[in-house]
Amino acid sequence: MEIILATSNKGKVREIRALFDEESVRPFTEILGPLEIEENGETFAQNALIKARTVFEALGRDDVVVVSDDSGITVPALDNEPGIYSARYAGKEASDRENLEKLVTRLKEMGLHEAPAFYTAAIAVVSPKGEYVVHGWMHGKVVDAPRGEGGFGYDPMFVPEGFDKTLGELDAKVKKRLSHRAKALALARPIIEMLSR
Ligand code: IMP
Repeated sequence: MEIILATSNKGKVREIRALFDEESVRPFTEILGPLEIEENGETFAQNALIKARTVFEALGRDDVVVVSDDSGITVPALDNEPGIYSARYAGKEASDRENLEKLVTRLKEMGLHEAPAFYTAAIAVVSPKGEYVVHGWMHGKVVDAPRGEGGFGYDPMFVPEGFDKTLGELDAKVKKRLSHRAKALALARPIIEMLSR
């Protein structure tokens, strides 16, 4: 059984590969090239399933397990923005930097230097034997002055609970241990193993 990732986000691919400790995990783009996937679900779980099902159907193979990740950051003080819109917060084609800058601007508009926030990851697993979704969360706060170059996306403005540095500044090992993605993948791993047998 081959494990195919239904994501081309480089940050996610890097983290998921590191968590699996395997090179045999391949992004779908290596096989299918670019594929337009319309993420029109209303939850992380729905969008994760849409991505994994689309890639599974496009592959048309029954010897693969397709794994997707739909994730984002939620700030309750900003009416739960950006949530499922994290990747397109500053517009449809927005870069990670533009999305981060929009969140900084929204905090400043509200007169907030920092605010509680959490990351959510929904991991969907789709195979000929069935479909599964699991979740993981990481709590902390967002700050209006991003720091550090580590991680990706909103990491330079996210300080995990129990730390005073951002994920941009902390060693990647910290995120590998604590992240929403790591927690969701710990739940997905036995499912993937079962489906691979
Ligand atoms: P998706 O690819 O549609 O699931 O969008 C995920 C978006 O949420 C990314 O573009 C990032 O902006 C953000 N995001 C998700 N997980 C992380 C993370 O671990 N660190 C930083 N940003 C993240």
